[in-house]
Amino acid sequence: AIPLVIALSTAVAAKGGILVKDRLALERMRTVDAVLFDKTGTLTRGEHVVTGVVGGGDTSDDEVLAVAAAVEADSEHPLARAIVAAAQQRELSRRASGFRSLTGRGVQAEVDGDTYAVGGPALLRELNATATEGLAARTKEWADRGSAVLHLLRTDGDRAVVVGALALADEVRPEARQAIADLRAQGIRKIVMITGDARPVADAVAADLGFRPGEDEVYAEVLPADKDDAVADLQRRGLRVAMVGDGVNDAPALARADVGIAIGAGTDVAIESAGVVLASSDPRAVTGVIALSRASYRKMI
Ligand code: ADP
Ligand code: MG
Repeated sequence: AIPLVIALSTAVAAKGGILVKDRLALERMRTVDAVLFDKTGTLTRGEHVVTGVVGGGDTSDDEVLAVAAAVEADSEHPLARAIVAAAQQRELSRRASGFRSLTGRGVQAEVDGDTYAVGGPALLRELNATATEGLAARTKEWADRGSAVLHLLRTDGDRAVVVGALALADEVRPEARQAIADLRAQGIRKIVMITGDARPVADAVAADLGFRPGEDEVYAEVLPADKDDAVADLQRRGLRVAMVGDGVNDAPALARADVGIAIGAGTDVAIESAGVVLASSDPRAVTGVIALSRASYRKMI
């Protein structure tokens, strides 16, 4: 029979958006010493937003954003959607015509009789365009922090001039910082992040989240199939690990962890592999699982 206190706790948990699939996982949660978060979609929003705009020469930042958004208006690319959304937010609107997609490099269109292109590094190389020193310094800063950098170019076919640049990044969830602070207050010794992203991107996000160098850890550039190796690595070092993730790629790591926690809408595979499922995608909900575990099992001893 299920002890009454647990049956009650589980009912309370369901109300708080915590679905306990595996009672033993919930019991283990109170002894966890490391919480391993998947980065994208869990600690970050999982979608790009414009985080910087710069104009070269006498072009204003707003002008760069307005023209870039006009050029991107018909593009389905996630980076294009982010630029259009940013321009809408600032109530900038311009019209473009003659939209053309430059596969794998960017897009092109006419605005006020001039031809503009928006694109990544490949486009910049192809059009052999160089930015002013000031603008190049800004874009280097952005790239070092792990942002995607796009340039806005005015072109007459063979030649192009850089009109401005935009930085796009997958933003840290504002609640993630608080979640990490709360976990520490609960006595969690080590916060860990795992991602397939490049090391500079991962480290920038970790710094933004307040990771403590030397104590907290970042696994970067991890192949999707190797995520569960990180869990095993932490366990070999004697740590009890709770893994928090939402993606198909996270399933093996969720299964291997002492406690697997699927977060948010999550994918079916992630939910199947997890012992605990959280209804919200707010990472602060993880502290609720620890509190529930401690409250439930303390009473039984
Ligand atoms: P990915 O899916 O990795 O973005 P794509 O082939 O779609 O690969 O694009 C490759 C690169 O080309 C992008 O990273 C970006 O730099 C540039 N690019 C593609 N589409 C656009 C667009 N609509 N606007 C600006 N840059 C773009
Ligand atoms: Mg693509």
